Amino acid sequence: MATFSVRFLGCKVSHTDAQLVRERLLADGHTEVDDAGDVAVVNTCCVTNEAVRKSRQAAARAARAHDRVYVTGCGANLAGDAFDGLPGNVIVIARRSEETPSAVAGDVGAIGCVQADSRLDRIRAFVKIQDGCSFSCNFCVIPLVRGASRSRPAGAVLNEVERRVAQGHREVVLTGINLGCYRDRETGYRLPRLVRDAGAIPGLARLRLSSIEVNHVNDELVAALRETPTVSRHLHVPLQSGDDGVLRDMARRYTAAGYLARIAPLRDDFNLTTDAIVGFPTETEAAFLETVAVVAEAGITKVHVFPYSPRPGTKTSARDPVPAHVKKDRSARLRAASHAASLARWHEKLGTEDVVLVDRPGRGYGDDYSPWLVDAPVGELVRVRARAVSVEGILAA
Ligand code: SF4
Repeated sequence: MATFSVRFLGCKVSHTDAQLVRERLLADGHTEVDDAGDVAVVNTCCVTNEAVRKSRQAAARAARAHDRVYVTGCGANLAGDAFDGLPGNVIVIARRSEETPSAVAGDVGAIGCVQADSRLDRIRAFVKIQDGCSFSCNFCVIPLVRGASRSRPAGAVLNEVERRVAQGHREVVLTGINLGCYRDRETGYRLPRLVRDAGAIPGLARLRLSSIEVNHVNDELVAALRETPTVSRHLHVPLQSGDDGVLRDMARRYTAAGYLARIAPLRDDFNLTTDAIVGFPTETEAAFLETVAVVAEAGITKVHVFPYSPRPGTKTSARDPVPAHVKKDRSARLRAASHAASLARWHEKLGTEDVVLVDRPGRGYGDDYSPWLVDAPVGELVRVRARAVSVEGILAA
C-alpha cells in the first residue's frame, strides 16, 4: 500500500481533475496523508507563465519529500520543457484528463478495491460536466492542452451530484472549460435542462455554474437559472477586454455592447463577476480604460485580473509589446476598481437579510456569493442580517 497526497494549481477544472486522481488512488486501497508519503500528485496549470513557474516549483518541492511525484494536468500537456531538469523521481503524465487517473493508478499499482469516501472539500463539491474548448481565442493555450469540447453524459453528471449530496456536500458547482457547449446528444440535454434537473436533486442546498461564456447567456439559460430555486444568484462571465478592437484581436466573438446586452437581464438580481486580461499586445491605455468602463457599466463586482503572458503554440505567442510595469499598473488599477465595486455591493446589503452557507470557521458565502463573516458552525446554512462591512466581507448580526 502506498501513501499519497494530491494537490492542484489553477482553476476549478484542475480541482476536479485532482479529485478524480485522488478518488482513484483511494479506491485502489492507497492511503492519503497530509504531506510527505510515498507518492505526490501535482495537477498543474499553464494558463500564464506565472502558473507554469508555480507548478514547476510545486513539483520540485514535492520531489524532495516523496519517492515519486506525478505531474499531471494542463502544465504536463503543454508542449515544451516546463518540467525538464527536475529530479529523476518526477514523472510527467501528459495525458487527457479522462485518462490521467488510470495512468497514475497503473503506475502506482492497485492494492485492492475499496469504497472510497472522498471529499476534497467538505462543503462545496465541484462536478465536471464538460472538458475542452472548441473556441479558438488567439491568446489561449487551453484548447491545445485540453482538446476540443466534449461533455459527460447527463445521467453520469446527475448521479455524481446525488452522490456528492449524499456525502454531505451542501453546494455543488457545475464545472467545465466552456460550460455553454454542454450537450449530451443521446439524451438531448443541454446546459439549461441540466441546471434544472441537477438543481432539483433532493438535499442540495445550492447550485452554481463555475463560469459561462457570454455568447451562451441566452433567454433559455437565464430562465433555468432564475426558475431553479437552488441556483445561487451569482454568475461568472469572462469579459477579457471591454475594447472592441482588442476583443477582435483576441477572437472573442462578441463586442462590448453585445456583452452588456447579454448580461442586462441578470443585472438586477445576480452578482456578476468576471475575468479580464490586461496588457494584451494591442491594448492601449485608451483600450484599457474601455475595460474599466465596461466593468463599471455591467455592474460587475469581482474581477479576476490576469496580466497577459504569451503562451506557446497560440496565435499571439510571439507578441508581448506591453511593458511589465504597464501591466502591473493596469492590474493594480483594475483590481482597485473591482474592490471598490465589491465594497459598494456589500454596503447596499446593510440591514438586509441573506442565507449564508458557512464553509470555513467564521466565514461563508451568501446566496449571491458575496463573502460574509459569520459566527456559526461550518456546514450550516444560517439566516443573517448585515450589520457592517469590512474589507473582507459583510459582518453578520
Ligand atoms: S473560450 Fe477562449 S479563453 Fe475560454 S478556454 Fe476556450 S479558447 Fe480559452
